[in-house]
Amino acid sequence: MYTKGLHDLGDGCHAWLQPDGGWGWSNSGLVTGGGVSLTVDTLFDLALTREMLDGLRPVTDIHPVTTLVNTHSDGDHVFGNELVRDVEIVASEAAAALMTQEEVDALARLKKLPGPRGDFVRKVFGPFEFEGITATPPTRTFAGGTSLDVGGREVRLIQVGPAHTPGDTIVEVPDARLLYAGDVLFIGGTPIVWAGPVERWIAACDLMLDLPVDTVVPGHGPVGGKPDVARMREYLVFVQQEAGKVRTCASRRRWGGPATGRPRGGSRRARRAPPAGRGRPRRPWR
Ligand SMILES: [Zn+2]
Repeated sequence: MYTKGLHDLGDGCHAWLQPDGGWGWSNSGLVTGGGVSLTVDTLFDLALTREMLDGLRPVTDIHPVTTLVNTHSDGDHVFGNELVRDVEIVASEAAAALMTQEEVDALARLKKLPGPRGDFVRKVFGPFEFEGITATPPTRTFAGGTSLDVGGREVRLIQVGPAHTPGDTIVEVPDARLLYAGDVLFIGGTPIVWAGPVERWIAACDLMLDLPVDTVVPGHGPVGGKPDVARMREYLVFVQQEAGKVRTCASRRRWGGPATGRPRGGSRRARRAPPAGRGRPRRPWR
């Protein structure tokens, strides 16, 4: 059932869901083990994160949070970090590079812009309050992948970005056959390619489809599974193919002849992103 709040997914895994899962309405996760717990992501502002942390208390009073993992650098997954006190905060190096006060302040400024640009930002991000947020970066970073111990329980972090953002990471709980996918999986919403190229996001979907998991918690939307990952992959392939056609037509018009039209993919931001290798993200443990 897709309702707001805490959902017990079994095997000590939980999700905090925020319907309707549109832009800014992100999910977070909680994994318990041996008297402690690990939180996956915070929310877009302090009020929402405070509400989420209060909602997790039936679990975290028994299993205090010792680790916070940020799946990527977007504000709707990190802006509440300052409220999760005295914990180790873990994120990929590429994500950490973007978890700055400048990013917080830039978004707060955008909301005050006059004219249509500001109107658009106010329409999309109106419900969120960005004033008074102190950027709280990771205390530990990694590149590629790493493994965490949560009270004797293994939780694996696999960097699949650049894809949605430069530093995307998915969080696998092997003994629960469960995956927190962050924003490399949107269910029931339109994904944004901030970084790309799209090929790498498709490769990330392939990697998720190969993992031995049954349950997948997306960054936005209801809890799902591999059929949702497959649907996401299908959508990205469609986008890539259609973009290729547009480029081919544009090249023909420009040069007056046939063109191969292979899409280059990737925004300027992605091309500035730290190199993380092309093609399929590697799975560090296999
Ligand atoms: Zn998000």
